[in-house]
Amino acid sequence: MSDCVFCKIVAGEIPASIVHADADTIAFMDIGSVNPGHVLVASKKHVENIYALDDATGAAVGRALARVARAIGEAFSPEGLSQYQANGKLAGQTVFHYHVHLVPRRRDDGMKVDWPVRNPGRDVLEGDAAAIRKALQQEAGGR
Ligand code: AMP
Ligand code: ZN
Repeated sequence: MSDCVFCKIVAGEIPASIVHADADTIAFMDIGSVNPGHVLVASKKHVENIYALDDATGAAVGRALARVARAIGEAFSPEGLSQYQANGKLAGQTVFHYHVHLVPRRRDDGMKVDWPVRNPGRDVLEGDAAAIRKALQQEAGGR
């Protein structure tokens, strides 16, 4: 899948601020962040959308989502965390690769998100990723 941006991130061919990776999943900061701390959790395997998702990959992404969500909670203390996924162009999907958005929310946000997207820059994304990685390590150490 040479033209797939998320496959290129998995292969290390284009940079991303990675917060978590295991055998089946990868999680990284969204460069077009709608709120601070916005993370994408994706399957490493090229799966275009939820219709093409097999049970084992779905379970692996679910596990990674729960772990990363807890770490975002620890690192950012948001009052809420939305998770969403678009499937198909009419639903707003822009990257055709299975992934779920985790978006921290503040009390004042309601259902609003920053729009247009913030494009915070690599230094901010790296700082946020480091905070989430630290929370993930602390949780792994506590088990
Ligand atoms: P969707 O609309 O659900 O397909 O979302 C695709 C998301 O991928 C968008 O929120 C983009 O900002 C994000 N994105 C695209 N390219 C990159 C990249 N190189 N690194 C991180 N996030 C990306
Ligand atoms: Zn791909």
